[in-house]
Amino acid sequence: MSDINAGLRHLHALLAQLGEVQDELARGPRQVTARENLVKKAEEELAAKRESLKQAKAAADRKSLDLKTNEAKIAGLQAKLNAASSNKEFDVIKGQIEADAVANSVLEDEILESLETVDRLQIAVGEGEQQVTQAQQERDKRAKEVADAKGGLEARVGELEGQVKEAEKILGGDNAVKYRRLVAAYGAEALAAVDGSICTNCYTAITPQMRVALNSGKVIFCNCSRLLFVPEGG
Ligand SMILES: [Zn+2]
Repeated sequence: MSDINAGLRHLHALLAQLGEVQDELARGPRQVTARENLVKKAEEELAAKRESLKQAKAAADRKSLDLKTNEAKIAGLQAKLNAASSNKEFDVIKGQIEADAVANSVLEDEILESLETVDRLQIAVGEGEQQVTQAQQERDKRAKEVADAKGGLEARVGELEGQVKEAEKILGGDNAVKYRRLVAAYGAEALAAVDGSICTNCYTAITPQMRVALNSGKVIFCNCSRLLFVPEGG
C-alpha cells in the first residue's frame, strides 16, 4: 500500500475531527439560544398569570365596593323605615330593604368566590416566578459552560487546521485545486474510502483500473467527485 493512501487516511481523519470540533463550537450558542427561548416563554406565561390575577383582584374590589354601596343604601332605608309615616310606606321600604339584603347576600357569595380565585392565581404567579428563575438559571449555566469551552475548542480548531494544512501537502497541482473545492463544499466528506471496489460515498463500484491506480498510489477521484482513499487494511 502506498504512502499516499496513508496520507489521505490521515487527512480524512483530521478533517473529520475538525468538523466535529467546529460542530461543537456552533452547537453551544444554539443551545444557549434555545434556553433563552424557554426563558421568554416562561416570562410570557408569568405575565399572563399576573394579568389574570390583576383582573381577579379588580373584580373582587368592584364587588366589595358594590356591597358597601348597598349596605349604605340599606342603612339609609333603615333610617327612612324608622321615620315612616304610614303602614304602606313602611311596607314599601321594608320590601326594598329585604330585596337589597338578598342582593347583598348574593354579592357576599360572589366576593368569597373572587377571593378564592385571587388566592389560586397568587399561587400560580408564585409558581410562574419560580419557573422563570429556574429557566434563567439553566440558561446562565449553559451560557457559562459554552463560554468556558469556547477558548479550548477554538484552540483545537486552530491546531487541527494547522495539521490539515500540513497533511494536504501530499496533494499538488490540479488535484489540490479539485480537493480544495470539494473540501469547501463537503468538509471531511470530500474524501471517501473505497470498500473493496465500492465508493462509500456513492455506493458505486469503481473500475478495476481505478482500483489498481489507487493501490499504486495515484490520486483518484470517483465519478461522484469524491477523492478516494484505501482504508486501513483495505
Ligand atoms: Zn463515489
